[in-house]
Amino acid sequence: MAAAWQDVVRDAAAVREAAAVAVDAALLAGVLMRTGEQPHASDVVNYAPFTLLPSAVPRALFEQAYAVQQDFNLLVDAISQNKEFLEKTLASTIKVDDFTAQLFRIYMQVLEEGLAQTVFLGINRSDYMFDCGLDGTAALRQIEINTIAASFGGLTSRTADVHRLVLKVLGKTEEASHLLPNNPAKGLALGIAKAWELYGSQRAVVMFLVEDVQRNIFDQRCVENELWNRNIRVVRKRFRDVFEQGSLDASRRLYMDGQEVAVVYYREGYVPQVYDQQNWEARLLLERSRAVKCPDIATQLAGTKKVQQELSRPGTLEKLLPGHPEATARIRATFAGLYSLDEGEEGDRIAATAIADPDRFVLKPQREGGGNNLYGEELREVLEKIKDSPERTSYILMDKIKPQPALNYLLRAHSPLQVSECISELGIFGVYVRQGQELVLNQAAGHLLRTKAIEHADGGVAAGVAVLDTPYLV
Ligand code: ADP
Ligand code: MG
Repeated sequence: MAAAWQDVVRDAAAVREAAAVAVDAALLAGVLMRTGEQPHASDVVNYAPFTLLPSAVPRALFEQAYAVQQDFNLLVDAISQNKEFLEKTLASTIKVDDFTAQLFRIYMQVLEEGLAQTVFLGINRSDYMFDCGLDGTAALRQIEINTIAASFGGLTSRTADVHRLVLKVLGKTEEASHLLPNNPAKGLALGIAKAWELYGSQRAVVMFLVEDVQRNIFDQRCVENELWNRNIRVVRKRFRDVFEQGSLDASRRLYMDGQEVAVVYYREGYVPQVYDQQNWEARLLLERSRAVKCPDIATQLAGTKKVQQELSRPGTLEKLLPGHPEATARIRATFAGLYSLDEGEEGDRIAATAIADPDRFVLKPQREGGGNNLYGEELREVLEKIKDSPERTSYILMDKIKPQPALNYLLRAHSPLQVSECISELGIFGVYVRQGQELVLNQAAGHLLRTKAIEHADGGVAAGVAVLDTPYLV
């Protein structure tokens, strides 16, 4: 990939001037986060970390990622309705992974009772890196698809304006005019609003299910405010509130202290640590309800790493999306090599290969939120230890994607301004709504570019590793 800003990236004076403008512009635009010191209040806030310069992204790969998003929406929706596939795919995982097992138990329990929910809303984000081949050409490779609590659709709606200003300060007015508009928050709100409307009760509210510590509240507020603009009432509640205030009526309508809830939008609930006994009970109550869950528990399971790995097996996509040969071809073209570590010969062979050559792979457990994967020596050590135990099956192996680094500055509060070698990850937001068997909305809703220094193998923005960025198409 051509380094887009070669002439300015080493110009210390120009960079200092642009960085000062950039930070103030981010604050003005609302690219904000609560601070680690005061995570519970908005009295003191700071800018969310972001790159000084927009990063070069190959136009063809960017367009490819957008073009496949409706296909991924279809696929996730299909998996979420395919009990046989989920059961078979997760059978080995739930024997050894307690968290996935508990989600799966709730899934089965809700199915046995019969679904009260008739309107379905999916908001996902498919993430990619640009794998650099030996001949220097880049290919789009999916890292994962996030089917629950995919974040930064709000804050990233505001980063293009900041980067446009930075480019002008650096004398690149022409380039500034090429940065694309981007507003995932609006697209996400459109989906939530559609689901709310189809639920069909004017008085009912949209409930954001939020964390105890809400450092990323401004990102969520962007989506909330879009809903208020449409005169849809939004409340923010935690699992604990649901446990204390939640109830179902005879037709399993969900009420919070007497207020009916039409849509539950999870921005929480994807890591085991949040679930004590009471919070599991709250989750079950929500899943049993008629309210539109975004996502329902089946869709959360569709986003597991184990499902991702099974999708890459020849023939699986075709079975899940019969009659959609073009869609399956577009989806498959984004897959990296993925390998099962289930017990048996196939798993033995790939485990041995990874132990011999760990830098070719990433070892992934069934976890979300960054910081869980294993690389290099650590991968080798862990795999050595578990290679003959059933614990192996709680992981999958994936080919390591190797993007071409580019120079940039990662602007973080209280950090010195220094140039870093960086790589980027592109996410495309997808939104869909289904009523019964009819898909009434299926769209790509915008994008997110996150960039990190190459010394970090893992981790996103919330994990403090990656920062917000804007694609500059080349
Ligand atoms: P999580 O659910 O924790 O976000 P991911 O699969 O997205 O898990 O991995 C977290 C991070 O690890 C990614 O954002 C990316 O930076 C890095 N990563 C994941 N898979 C790969 C891969 N195959 N090659 C290179 N880096 C990867
Ligand atoms: Mg991820």
